[in-house]
Amino acid sequence: MDYPARQKRLREDLLARRLDALLISHLPNIRYLCGFSGSAAALLVASDGSTLFTDGRYTQQAKAEVKAAGIRIVRTGPLNSAVEWLGRRRSSNRGKGINLGIEGQYLTVSARRALAKVQGKSIRIREAPDLVERARMVKDAGEIALIRSAVTLGAALFDRALQAIRPGVREVEVAAEMEYAARKGGADGMAFDTIVAAGPRSALPHGRASEAAIAPDGFVVCDFGVILHGYCSDRTRTVYVGAATGEARRVYEAVLSSQQAAIAAVRPGAEVRRVDGAARKTLQKHGLAQYFTHSTGHGVGLEIHESPRVARGQQEILRPGMVITIEPGVYLPGQWGVRIEDMVVVTEQGCEVLSPTQKEFIVI
Ligand code: ZN
Ligand code: ZN
Repeated sequence: MDYPARQKRLREDLLARRLDALLISHLPNIRYLCGFSGSAAALLVASDGSTLFTDGRYTQQAKAEVKAAGIRIVRTGPLNSAVEWLGRRRSSNRGKGINLGIEGQYLTVSARRALAKVQGKSIRIREAPDLVERARMVKDAGEIALIRSAVTLGAALFDRALQAIRPGVREVEVAAEMEYAARKGGADGMAFDTIVAAGPRSALPHGRASEAAIAPDGFVVCDFGVILHGYCSDRTRTVYVGAATGEARRVYEAVLSSQQAAIAAVRPGAEVRRVDGAARKTLQKHGLAQYFTHSTGHGVGLEIHESPRVARGQQEILRPGMVITIEPGVYLPGQWGVRIEDMVVVTEQGCEVLSPTQKEFIVI
């Protein structure tokens, strides 16, 4: 990963916003900028260099992972330490004030108050816009390669689910099989709590696997993802257990064509709301639009939910290298639900579905 190039772009953004430095506390942003994957750190990116602040538990790891920033092992909180260090350095250097940006959306009120106590007179703290998140929206070739391998591993979990899903089997058992396969395949962990939602529970868009047994008849929604080498995968497949009615097939086909219409709308230069609109319009034709109760998709990368949001009213313009999900669904409360989700990468011409697999109606 070209961390110096990422930091260089960030410095240009900081300059344009009259910030002398940015104090980064959000761990995925820290990982993106310097490669550090530990769970306690602050990264200070200033015009003249970057410094990672972490504690003694991470001495070895920081040395191994971080080449694109100085490393300081501190005894107190890394955020406060970073600000104190910056203050000392600046006042001994020039005595000129410094405009320091912070990531307001990730700092608690008490953390902000603590910074106020140590910032001194030379540092002015300002909430910075989401510069790193915006940079992270467009993935570079190295990231896309990692995302591809995460998606390939993630996709394989569905094969395990198909073996495990039977009437009478509890949802958690199906999830357990999938998660075991993920770890065996090398996953760092799951990208989110695995969703296995059967029968009426399939109507819950976020129905985490429960102890409920799979009924002899009905849909089962499986939404699952792994983290591999730091990058997430996200996919949903819906199958039918028992004797499928014509109505079940009809709804499944409608959701599938909605997903295909949205995928066809993904191309560079398109606004994300158009992609969302394509999914909704198709469901509308089938009289099902009112049952599609969430947005069409989201960015995926170091985090499972990133920018851009693929939703109504969102005007973000798609660019090559963006990785988003396309996941329309239809939910009839108390009855059943269907969702189909894939990840796509925006290319120069349109988009590529990552690890495409068959999506025909499966009956178990
Ligand atoms: Zn999902
Ligand atoms: Zn998703």
